[in-house]
Amino acid sequence: MADVSRIRRFTGEDDYRRNFVVQKEIDKYLPGGRHFIDDARIRGIISGLDSAPPDPVRVREIIAKSESTCETLTPEETGVLMQVTDPALFEEMRAAADRIKHKVYDNRIVVFAPLYISNACVNGCRYCGFREGNAAQKRRILTMDELKEEVDVIAGRIGHKRVIAVYGEHPSTSTEYIAETIETCYARQVKAPKTGAPVGIRRVNVNAAPLPVEDLKVLKSVGIGTFQVFQETYDRSLYESMHPAWSVKGNYDWRTTCFHRCLEAGVDDVGFGVLYGLCDWRYELLATVMHARDLERWFNIGPHTLSFPRLEPASGTKVPEESPWLIDDETFARIIVIARLSIPYTGIIITARESPESRNRVLNRGMTQLDCSSNIAIKGYSDFENESHQEKDRQQFLLGDTRSLDEMVRYLASRNTITSFCTAGYRCGRTGGCIMDALKTGREGKFCKINAVLTFREWLDDFASEETLRIGNALIEKELEGIREWVPKFYPSVMKQYEATCRGERDLFF
Ligand code: SAM
Ligand code: SF4
Repeated sequence: MADVSRIRRFTGEDDYRRNFVVQKEIDKYLPGGRHFIDDARIRGIISGLDSAPPDPVRVREIIAKSESTCETLTPEETGVLMQVTDPALFEEMRAAADRIKHKVYDNRIVVFAPLYISNACVNGCRYCGFREGNAAQKRRILTMDELKEEVDVIAGRIGHKRVIAVYGEHPSTSTEYIAETIETCYARQVKAPKTGAPVGIRRVNVNAAPLPVEDLKVLKSVGIGTFQVFQETYDRSLYESMHPAWSVKGNYDWRTTCFHRCLEAGVDDVGFGVLYGLCDWRYELLATVMHARDLERWFNIGPHTLSFPRLEPASGTKVPEESPWLIDDETFARIIVIARLSIPYTGIIITARESPESRNRVLNRGMTQLDCSSNIAIKGYSDFENESHQEKDRQQFLLGDTRSLDEMVRYLASRNTITSFCTAGYRCGRTGGCIMDALKTGREGKFCKINAVLTFREWLDDFASEETLRIGNALIEKELEGIREWVPKFYPSVMKQYEATCRGERDLFF
C-alpha cells in the first residue's frame, strides 16, 4: 500500500486552488527567475524562417547529426529543418526519421488503452469540456469497483497490458486516490477468453495535473509508469489567456517545472505533449526542444515520450473550432518528422484522436506508440458492449480512429510491424537515465524485440481472431529468424522462453 502520510489534504475546492502550488519547488528550477523556455530566442528563430530556403548541405549535416548521435538538436537546428519546403529534401528528412525510429525502436509499435477515471475539475481551461462550471458535462469519479469492471474489459476482453489513466484536477481525485487507482489496476487479474491464462494490466501510465515532489514519490512507490502532463501551449501569454489566473492550472511556471520535480522524485519516465492547434506549431516544437534540453542539463534524462494531441471540438466551448492555429493533416505529418529528428531517442505517441488515414500515414515517420479499441467515456469500456461505441455527451471529444486492437494488429503486421505488449522496461529498472544510452545506441530496440515477440505470442494465443492469428504467426516466424541471425548464442534462451509461452506460461521477459 502507498504511504500517503505526507500528502497535503485540502478542505475544499477553494482551499485546493489557493494552496496546491509549492512556490519553492518552482524557484529551484528557474534560478534567478530565468525561464528555460526562452521566448525571445524562439521568436528570433521563427522570424528568420520565411527568409530564404535553407542550404541543403546544412540540412543534410543536421540530419546526419541526428541519425548518428541520437542527441537532441539545438532549437536553431530544428529551425533549419522547419525551413525545408523542397519536397525532395523533405523526403530525405522523412526517410531519416523512419531510419532513426528503426534504429531506436526497431519495427515495433507499442499499444495501450486510454482509461478515463474522473472528469471532476477545479480548472477552467477554455478549450476543455471538463472545465469547472460547464453544466453540459456529467461529472463522474470511478469507484474502485467500477475501475475493476473497466480493467476487466481492457485486460480481459481486449487484451491490453498498458493503460494511460486520465484524471481531471480536483481534491476528490487527490494523489491518494490516484495511487489507489494505480494499485487497483495492477492487482486485478482476469482470465483470457481463448486460453484461460491469467491476464492483467502491467503498466499504468498517468495523465494528470502537475504534482509536488512528495506526491510524486507516492506515485513512484506504487509503480507508476510514465507521468504524462501536456503543456497545452508553451507561449506564456496564450497560456494565460486559455487558463484563468484563479485556477491552479493558470500557473505557467508550476506546469513547466513539473517534469523537473518528477525526475527529482525518481519518476523518471516523463511524457511531454502540446495541444497542437492552440498556437503556432513552430513555437511549440522549438519550445519542446528547449524543455527537453533543460531536463537533460539537470538530470541527463529527456522525455520518454512526446504526444501530439490535436485540438478537438468539445462540449460547451467554441475555442477548438475558432482557433487561428489549427493544423491540417499535411502539417501534422510534417511536425512528426521534425520532432523525430529533433529529439531522436524519444517515443512518439499518436492517439486515436487522429483519423485512421492520418495515423497510417505517420507510421513511417517515427511513431512508436498508439492506442486502439479506445473508449474515452468514463466507465465507457464496461458500460458499452462494443468498446468502440462513442457517446458525445459522455466523453471529452469524439475519437477519429475507432479500429479495434485486433484490426490494428493485423494492419500493422501487413506493414511488417510487430505489435508490442512489452512492459518489461520499467519493471527491470530500464527507465530514465538507464534507458537513455541504450536507446541512443540502438541496444534497447534489439533487446525489446525479444520481449515484443514473447508478448505478441501471448496476445495472439489469448485474444486474436483466426485471421489475425494466421498473419501474426507468419510475422513471428520472421522475427524469430531475425533474432537467430542477430544473436545466435542467445537464441536458445529466447526459444526456451518462447516455447514456455506457447505452452501457456505468461509474463516471461528479458
Ligand atoms: N487534467 C489534467 C491536465 O489538464 O493536465 C489531465 C487530464 S486532461 C483530460 C488531458 C489532456 O486533454 C489535456 O492535457 C489536454 O491536452 C487534452 N484536451 C483538453 N481539451 C481538449 C480538446 N478540446 N481537444 C483535444 N484534447 C484536449
Ligand atoms: Fe481540467 Fe485538464 Fe480539462 Fe483543464 S484540460 S479543464 S485541467 S481536465
